[in-house]
Amino acid sequence: MASESGEDIKEDISPMSDSAKEDTLDRLSKDFDDLSEHAQQLLTEKLFLENEFAQLKKRANRLDEELRNIKTPPLVVGYIQDIIDEQAIVRSSNGTVFLVSVNRRLDISEMKPGTRVALNQDTLSVVEALSDSWDPLVSSAEIIESPTIDYESIGGLDEQIREIREAVELPFEKPEAFIELGIEPPKGVLLTGPPGTGKTMLAKAVANSTKATFLGLVGAELAQKYIGEGGRMVRELFDLAKQKAPSIIFIDELDSIGSKRLDTATSGDREVQRTLMQLLSEMDGFETLDDVKIIAATNRPELLDAALLRPGRFDRIIDIPLPDVDARETIFGVHTKSMPIDKKVGLRYLSNISEGFSGAEIKSSVVEAGINAISDGRKKVSKSDFTDAIKKVENKRKDSANSSAEGLYR
Ligand code: ATP
Repeated sequence: MASESGEDIKEDISPMSDSAKEDTLDRLSKDFDDLSEHAQQLLTEKLFLENEFAQLKKRANRLDEELRNIKTPPLVVGYIQDIIDEQAIVRSSNGTVFLVSVNRRLDISEMKPGTRVALNQDTLSVVEALSDSWDPLVSSAEIIESPTIDYESIGGLDEQIREIREAVELPFEKPEAFIELGIEPPKGVLLTGPPGTGKTMLAKAVANSTKATFLGLVGAELAQKYIGEGGRMVRELFDLAKQKAPSIIFIDELDSIGSKRLDTATSGDREVQRTLMQLLSEMDGFETLDDVKIIAATNRPELLDAALLRPGRFDRIIDIPLPDVDARETIFGVHTKSMPIDKKVGLRYLSNISEGFSGAEIKSSVVEAGINAISDGRKKVSKSDFTDAIKKVENKRKDSANSSAEGLYR
């Protein structure tokens, strides 16, 4: 046994042959290279992750900031009645009078009786002076006594034109027929469909053909941050519409005030809901045969509160899809009507190469093609002017789709 283990030791300490030494050296140096490369890789990864971490932290801060903004409670609107020793007597929008402080940042000499101000919701102290000239109905409602758009300038929407005429024109023109038959015409018509498909045009054309006043407003303008303002604007809008009757109230982007009511709402959301409630009660408050019709538009009908779609409110829904190949041909025809174009340009050809275009995009292509011809010093618009223009409009759409998708992830 002893001799056996002695031999083992001898074997262990026996000097390595040169080739074995070289092998080991090679192996070790290869291991060393591999490990250094791995270490370098890990270092790069670490830097990359650190960078990513910093980006994410920045994004989290930005989102935090946004969240704080969304949660900021709305301000109350009131009017100055008097100023006493740096303090103000204000009447809030519900009529109660308070003696409150004025934010030091504000110039108290500008606070005259009657000045409209924003008040903090809790302390009612004056935090902002609102410009007197800021009259929402003057500044944002587009009042057109009688718009000039007619049905002929709308391409490819014959069926939708027929439906809207039935719902709006007929009751305007023959109210007695409805009374005789004992039926109630719809009070409101909802136009749904992608942007730029002619919803606003359609509403204006109805107003034109019935000689009604057109009162146009974008929903987001009604979603005010001051308590009571949105509701007041809706009330004033309806008052004005009754005064100017026959009239058509057109509310674009209805979803910005008419989205489904949520339980967990911030106070800003609650203000939007109050505006919606006011709209519903105004709609319920007038007779179907009054000379006021409401047309609203949205490209996100699935978001709308079901209350808006009940009978007696928006009970006629007209869908306006993107134009198909025939409709696109008609729309090209409408917009090139007074344009000198080369004989080689076929409207069908233009329609075929503009798959997926909305009416608004077709119009931009025509304008763009015209500009191409003018900048080349030509009097007629050629086929290549159109093909280039259509490509340009298509690329613009792709770019904006990409940037909005990036925006979602940023
Ligand atoms: P949004 O949802 O973005 O408000 P919209 O559906 O109300 O869009 P309009 O404002 O009516 O779209 O259309 C924008 C422009 O596009 C119009 O001024 C018109 O020149 C053109 N257009 C859209 N649809 C048509 C169409 N069917 N026929 C002719 N022109 C059209």
